[in-house]
Amino acid sequence: MTNLGRVSRVRLRDDLSGLEGYHSPQIQVSVRLNTNESPYPPPPGFARAWADQLALLDLNRYPDRSSRQLRQGLGARLAQPAERFFCGNGSNEVIQTLLLAYGGPGRRALVFEPSYVLHAHIARLTGTEVVEAERPDGLAIGPEVAARVIAAERPDVVFLCSPNNPTGVVETRATVEAALGAGASLVVVDEAYAEFASWSALDLVDDEIPLVVVKTYSKVWALAALRLGFCVGPRWLVEDLEKVALPYHLPASTQLAGTLALGFVAEMEERVAAIVAERERLIRGLSAMEGFKVFPSGANFVLFRPPGDGHALWQRLLEQGVLVR
Ligand SMILES: *Cc1c(COP(=O)(O)O)cnc(C)c1O
Repeated sequence: MTNLGRVSRVRLRDDLSGLEGYHSPQIQVSVRLNTNESPYPPPPGFARAWADQLALLDLNRYPDRSSRQLRQGLGARLAQPAERFFCGNGSNEVIQTLLLAYGGPGRRALVFEPSYVLHAHIARLTGTEVVEAERPDGLAIGPEVAARVIAAERPDVVFLCSPNNPTGVVETRATVEAALGAGASLVVVDEAYAEFASWSALDLVDDEIPLVVVKTYSKVWALAALRLGFCVGPRWLVEDLEKVALPYHLPASTQLAGTLALGFVAEMEERVAAIVAERERLIRGLSAMEGFKVFPSGANFVLFRPPGDGHALWQRLLEQGVLVR
């Protein structure tokens, strides 16, 4: 008999053995709010344009490795040179690429909890040690705390998230500047929701500043199914990320969709405005209810603490076709 090396199970890397995978239920109900996707589809004109141009792609050829057209389109829209953009399969892949480049064994990433769970999760997957700091009263980090913790910890990578998932709180420009001034090697600002808020750290991006802003098509552009995200950072950072990314990692169909979506800015802004109006209506409604604590939000979601049993409320909402987190 040949020895096929049968074992009951291969042992996962020791440093990952305690790790839980990312979990969020995908339940088919009429109102799905638990992953902060856009409730509105992209405009029909976008889907038609994409389908028409998909037919013209050279499917036998690898996609453009440097996503040139997409980066030029993004650069024109965001007033930054195309060379400062790196695109990936969702901003999660962009974050993973950043951590492969600047984290890894022997390096440390700082997160201010509670925040987007994937920052710490992807850090651990890449062998990066995670340093967890607490937010003052769970809300904005603020410049003083940011500067103090970063100066004490000297992390290789600092994650800020503005507006923050899951609190919705917007960090000020002063916080980002304080983080940069405090001696972190690299400051990552996750701006998955920035278009729903009033400011962006994008105009701080410069070749001389160790700052990278991460953005996604998943929320603002109503294209979560595409898996397209990008970051804007110094040219040297983009060059580093290109060394780390797998060759041809971004499908031609995705690059095309991302470029075409940029032709529908007015429709995107209309959706964003409608969602912001709904957010404010929801905040007013929840605030008027006895015993509910509602947090201010600059995102497309609202954090609230109900009186009594939160899980029971979650279940009751689900029974009525509303999935919250
Ligand atoms: C939803 C979300 C993302 C999006 O990730 P993709 O991989 O681009 O879908 C990124 N960051 C935060 C904070 C989010 O909430």
